[in-house]
Amino acid sequence: MDTEKFKERLLREKTQLEEEMSGVGRQNPDVPGDWEPTPANDGQLDIDDNVKADNHEESMERSAILTELEVRHKNVSDALEKIEKGTYGVCETSGEQIEEDRLEANPAARTCKAHMND
Ligand SMILES: [Zn+2]
Repeated sequence: MDTEKFKERLLREKTQLEEEMSGVGRQNPDVPGDWEPTPANDGQLDIDDNVKADNHEESMERSAILTELEVRHKNVSDALEKIEKGTYGVCETSGEQIEEDRLEANPAARTCKAHMND
């Protein structure tokens, strides 16, 4: 299997995810690798209640987006680590080889098609 090709795609996706993450959040200085959503009202001191409610909603949304991005980021990082270790493309459930077309669709896949919903 051509892991170089997947490595390139994974590295590109990782950079892209980090860009997206920095758009809605910031790295937690106390917990390396952890991200927290940036407050929507950053810097605004005097805002009315309507804006506050909107901001609260937006913060919730940011938090949900960030959580999703963090999961994808973790999958991509783990896949890159597996490439380094030489265990890339092995199903985490069955230990079998993951189908190449599945990796084409999602280079960060952890499982083969048979176990993708586990
Ligand atoms: Zn499997």
